[in-house]
Amino acid sequence: MIDFHCHLDLYPNPHEVAARCAAQRAYVLSVTTTPKAWHGTVALAEGRERIKTALGLHPQIAHERHQELALFEGLLPEAKYVGEIGLDGSLEFRQHAAVQRKCFNQILKASAQAGGRILTIHSRGAADEVMDALADQPDAGIAVLHWFSGTKTQLRRAIDMGCWFSVGPAMTRGRKGTELLSAMPLERVLTETDGPFVQRSGTPIQPGDVADAILACSNTWKMEPADAAFCIRENFRRLVS
Ligand code: MN
Repeated sequence: MIDFHCHLDLYPNPHEVAARCAAQRAYVLSVTTTPKAWHGTVALAEGRERIKTALGLHPQIAHERHQELALFEGLLPEAKYVGEIGLDGSLEFRQHAAVQRKCFNQILKASAQAGGRILTIHSRGAADEVMDALADQPDAGIAVLHWFSGTKTQLRRAIDMGCWFSVGPAMTRGRKGTELLSAMPLERVLTETDGPFVQRSGTPIQPGDVADAILACSNTWKMEPADAAFCIRENFRRLVS
């Protein structure tokens, strides 16, 4: 299974959770929300080749952590993946739009200067702004829009820009999410959990628990779940190779 966006370091027992991922042979992109979390989160992946770590600065805490941008740039040469980054335009966070934009733009620019990265991007309530920023830095790398919740028009734009999408269980529960999924190009879809922020049966979803997302893909693509899982795995291979 492919879990292309999971916060391993934010589970209460991250070492146990990481060990379980490895035992289940799950491919996990372990994202961070601050540059300061990088070393501790990398340690969770040590000796576990299927767990990759992404260097991030989450838009919801950009106003508290923007001083860590220099640290981010210092660590970037070590990081093949970048995230969680992006913009959050929801009511609670739009007051910090300026500092979010500053962080996001600077990270995209640094990624471009470093030769490009695979980016896992948050775009809640800010899909157009995220795409504007990506358009300004076309060499930043490959953008994977995680938990995309924009409009169909915004989705169309993202597809035209070459974005990828990681689809989680929360996205597959409602009608809007499934409509978006059906409009995404099959060959650019990955699965994710966004654990531990997503609950499943009353407890935080576990890394690699992408069964619901695979089921939604299999329904949308009119194929068996095993075949949908195979497509996602092939997409993953193509992306990271
Ligand atoms: Mn996340």
